[in-house]
Amino acid sequence: MTGEKPVVAIAGAGVIGACLALFLARAGCTVKLFDAGQNSKSATPRSFGWINAHSPENAHHFRLRLQSMTLWKSLLQDYPDLPLSFGGGIDWDLPQESISAASEHYISLGSNTRLINRKALAGIFPHHPGLPDFALHNMDEGIAVPALISKGLVSAAQEAGAQFHSGQIIERLQADSGQITAAISNDGKTAFDHIVFCAGIETNTLLEQIGCHLPMDNRPGRLMRTAPLPKLTPLVTSSPGLHFWQAEDGCILAGSTQAGTFSTGEAEWETEIAKKLLAFFPRGTQIRDYKTVTGVRPMPADGMPVIGPVPGLRNASLAVMHSGITLAAIVAKLLSNEIIEEKTQPALDPYRFSRFTGASISSMGVAP
Ligand SMILES: Cc1cc2nc3c(=O)[nH]c(=O)nc-3n(C[C@H](O)[C@H](O)[C@H](O)COP(=O)(O)OP(=O)(O)OC[C@H]3O[C@@H](n4cnc5c(N)ncnc54)[C@H](O)[C@@H]3O)c2cc1C
Repeated sequence: MTGEKPVVAIAGAGVIGACLALFLARAGCTVKLFDAGQNSKSATPRSFGWINAHSPENAHHFRLRLQSMTLWKSLLQDYPDLPLSFGGGIDWDLPQESISAASEHYISLGSNTRLINRKALAGIFPHHPGLPDFALHNMDEGIAVPALISKGLVSAAQEAGAQFHSGQIIERLQADSGQITAAISNDGKTAFDHIVFCAGIETNTLLEQIGCHLPMDNRPGRLMRTAPLPKLTPLVTSSPGLHFWQAEDGCILAGSTQAGTFSTGEAEWETEIAKKLLAFFPRGTQIRDYKTVTGVRPMPADGMPVIGPVPGLRNASLAVMHSGITLAAIVAKLLSNEIIEEKTQPALDPYRFSRFTGASISSMGVAP
């Protein structure tokens, strides 16, 4: 492979696999992108789609998110048809007494955030009866339209030369002497120099064939999509127990907190979300029509992404994570560099598979 760009197979065309395909194809690799297709449990189209940097407790992860936000914006310049928008975000889903310190912390980490007061908020949400004294306003946050982003990235990757095998599930892997030698889909056998598993919650189905298991703690999440409502704001809004954004057509996508478990049934949850949402609209507004969708967040057991080499295999990598909509751009950039240059990217070091004890290749003659 020296001097030549590798042939890379990717299992999974959610936002991570599709974005990786784009970066690899742009860099001149031969890319074979496989996706199980419409009946899969892909998290991407069931996501909220928020591109943000929250949770500053982990400064490295926070900065990675900021880098990804910047990169998404530059991708949008190259591909103006990508379903991305960056209207900013408003957040008061945190205790008022800590909001000023939170704002300073965000800013110290490089976030383009400021504190806004109730008067400014009332200018945005004139009908809401319970606005707080302060909220965080982030000027760089955005949305990737969940139902469209993978498709948009796949089209861009195809333009750059990637081959897309839609409806083709990688069903079996062949390994020998520390490398995967072939992947077999429902359409036949594929050869490659390197393979990347971007199969979200299905990743272990593939890894277990090669005696490997990634500890996961996948979390379900519910979202409500309304029929068109009067125009509110282009800001992604996060208030206690409710986050939402409004699409161009007036439809709102709304969710509750990120807990991952449901303390109420779906009907009760919908009533609560609708009630909280209506507080933003003039009296008399009704939410007549909506649909609730449940998705599953691919969540490695410690909540952090897992990116890079599969332990013991010379030619296999993986990328599995929550917040994949936010992180896809930077993950695709760093991981594609790692694969092409065959050199580790230190920025990915905190996210290696090897941090999980016992996560090693144990069968098929693959090196430990
Ligand atoms: C309710 C909810 C809200 C969320 N909100 C946000 C948010 O606001 N911001 C954010 O950044 N993230 C959010 N996330 C997380 C985000 O959606 C995921 O991290 C991201 O979509 C993961 O993308 P992925 O490409 O890794 O996986 P997926 O989107 O699941 O894609 C995996 C793909 O692999 C394919 N596949 C599986 N097995 C095979 C196989 N054997 N062969 C071929 N193809 C295969 C599947 O068909 C699928 O398309 C949310 C998730 C949920 C569920």
